[in-house]
Amino acid sequence: MKKHILVVPGDGIGQEVTAVGKKVLERIAEKFNHEFTYDEALIGHVAIEATGNPLPDETLEKMRASDAVLFGAVGHPKYDNDPSAKVRPEQGLLKMRKELGLYANLRPIKLFDELLSASSIKPEILKGSDILFFRELTGDIYFGEKGRKDDGKTAYDIAQYSVYEVERIARKAFDAAMTRGKKLMSVDKANVLETSRLWREVVQRVAHEYPEVQVEHQFVDSAAMLLIKDPRRFDVVVTANLFGDILTDEASQIAGSMGMLASASIGDGTGVYEPIHGSAHDITGKGVANPMASVLSAALLLDISFGLKEEAEAVINAVDQVLKSGIRTRDIADASTPSDMIRGTEATGEALL
Ligand code: ATP
Ligand code: MG
Repeated sequence: MKKHILVVPGDGIGQEVTAVGKKVLERIAEKFNHEFTYDEALIGHVAIEATGNPLPDETLEKMRASDAVLFGAVGHPKYDNDPSAKVRPEQGLLKMRKELGLYANLRPIKLFDELLSASSIKPEILKGSDILFFRELTGDIYFGEKGRKDDGKTAYDIAQYSVYEVERIARKAFDAAMTRGKKLMSVDKANVLETSRLWREVVQRVAHEYPEVQVEHQFVDSAAMLLIKDPRRFDVVVTANLFGDILTDEASQIAGSMGMLASASIGDGTGVYEPIHGSAHDITGKGVANPMASVLSAALLLDISFGLKEEAEAVINAVDQVLKSGIRTRDIADASTPSDMIRGTEATGEALL
């Protein structure tokens, strides 16, 4: 198979971890006889430094012309203390999502057995947890009208969803449920919010197209509680932008470390695959970042954008094997990890290949 992949490392540890993700893609191409070509482009702080723009037109054009994007992270601590900065790395990310029509954010929360003890949740509750979140990415309270009134003494953000927006993400989630355990949980707050009532109506209607899928509706407060109490009850979850933001951060604790979690953003155009973690400047350049999130993002890229299931499986197996062999980066090491098994970013990458 011939494919063109754009690597966009961005800022901080994005550089280190996408280098490993790319190597794994190269190795897969070799092993399975595919012809992958690569290009690189700038985004975030590094793009601001070079061009003054967090998402240069050239990057956007390259993204549109690629079959998939392997993405790192954006962010720089200098903006944290400067809320008034007009140009910010994160603007690049939001603009990219909008320009590429990336309306669905997929986050698989898969717990590798070897990392049971790395989580702060009890192993007997966690063992076997395997959840796939679909977070809606382009609507909700994030993008509605916002502002101040009453001489600035009152603030408001308007949440808004259209039938079309809910339908398209619901279909993606139902399609995924059909390939997994045929179970789907839709999370809303339909007892209070009108957007949630529309959400629930639409999900119920789309459910008729998928009679084999067992559908459960949960209020977001209850879902947040159940995630910790009984994570194995979850399979595919579909939810709105704000609820998804909060629930997926909560769920990341099921997998032990942010350094293990990949995501896919898909929609109308090129799919973008990236770790859920950020630029982590506290560990940048130290060679200690866990590259697995980028490697697992590469697996999602192979699976979703290219339909290469066997190749994606091979990547996940390699991660599993490396963990089984005892190799750990610092973030997933615990008291039982021998110090000679604690490896850096590159060494962990080498072990994967
Ligand atoms: P951003 O502002 O871009 O979100 P951040 O500095 O908030 O970046 P995060 O990526 O959100 O950093 O991560 C929070 C902390 O988790 C980091 O400071 C880092 O110590 C740790 N961390 C994140 N990703 C990894 C990783 N891949 N390997 C090891 N530790 C990580
Ligand atoms: Mg962060």
